Amino acid sequence: MELCYYTYMRLRNITGSREVIADSKWCMETPRDMSGKWHELFGNDHPVYVEIGMGKGRFLIDNARTYPDINYIGIEKYSSVLLRGIQKLEEEPMENVSLIRMEAEYITEVFAEGEIDRIYLNFSDPWPKDRHAKRRLPSREFLARYERILKPGSVVEFKTDNRDLFDFAVEEAAAAGWDMPVCTYDLHADEKLMQGNIITEYEEKFSSMGNPICKYVISRPDRADTLPDQTNPI
Ligand code: SAH
Repeated sequence: MELCYYTYMRLRNITGSREVIADSKWCMETPRDMSGKWHELFGNDHPVYVEIGMGKGRFLIDNARTYPDINYIGIEKYSSVLLRGIQKLEEEPMENVSLIRMEAEYITEVFAEGEIDRIYLNFSDPWPKDRHAKRRLPSREFLARYERILKPGSVVEFKTDNRDLFDFAVEEAAAAGWDMPVCTYDLHADEKLMQGNIITEYEEKFSSMGNPICKYVISRPDRADTLPDQTNPI
């Protein structure tokens, strides 16, 4: 079934969003089948960058327009939010974008070892309770997953205005042995780091409220022989 943009706009009832997503050419319905084969979907061997928790997709789509020789995959757990990304791509089709509706903890089932060239985390959910620390996207548990799917030497970039989450993320990256070539507690005051900064929806919202934006870039440790085994954690 083909649904045009205006049909999506009429889909007030968000329970319809799953059906729209299932029918969308922009969304990969069976991402596990693509493990190790994402380059076939894009029809080239360009680098693959992934944004986890892409929200409505502004950052992802602005990147894809700016860098047509990079393939972008957006992951979002909520259909109602992902739908907004699909609507944007209906209006402005881009061959270097694919979206996945899924919970990020399954990421190692969807990408093969070393298949990914960069991961972006933007304004990830803070999960403030200690007992939920493992759910935070920059936690050591998630870093171990990223380490499996990233090529050696490639990076994770993280932006947030939540200082507690950022402090946690910096500690987790150090504990997991990742290098941190970039770490700022006020991105928008750093002229050099702001060059080429592509703003996210949350970044615009929170910086306009006066909140400083924190950002780190961490690089994957080069220890390919000793990758943590996610299926049998010790
Ligand atoms: N990156 C966007 C949205 C930030 S809000 C921006 O900066 O504007 C965080 C988004 O991440 C939400 O849409 C939420 O649904 C999604 N998200 C949070 N945890 C997730 C997870 N574990 N897996 C997939 N998506 C997740």
